[in-house]
Amino acid sequence: MSDEEPKVAEETSARIRISYEEAVEFFLALTPNGNCPLCKSDRWEIPTDQTHKGDVFLLPAGGMRGGKRAYNLGLECKTCGFVRVHRANLIREWLDGDRAVPEAPSDEV
Ligand SMILES: [Zn+2]
Repeated sequence: MSDEEPKVAEETSARIRISYEEAVEFFLALTPNGNCPLCKSDRWEIPTDQTHKGDVFLLPAGGMRGGKRAYNLGLECKTCGFVRVHRANLIREWLDGDRAVPEAPSDEV
């Protein structure tokens, strides 16, 4: 707490939170074939928040989305280090909704 952060309290209250379990559920449901586009590995590291135990670490995106502060969740490929970024707000909205899984378009018909 060395840097001056005058708006910490305000930002904390507006901050969205996603638990690790919720993030895993989201990714398993919506990106079941989410292999790394570069090395094809399917092992991703989801960063956890050291302040809020059990939550994933969200990075402020610097803008707004649907009237709320926008946050990003970055997943790191455990094999090659490639980082993919998801808008955390959309994950939160999916979790708060009916958690519908879109029908995967199939070209194997
Ligand atoms: Zn990779």
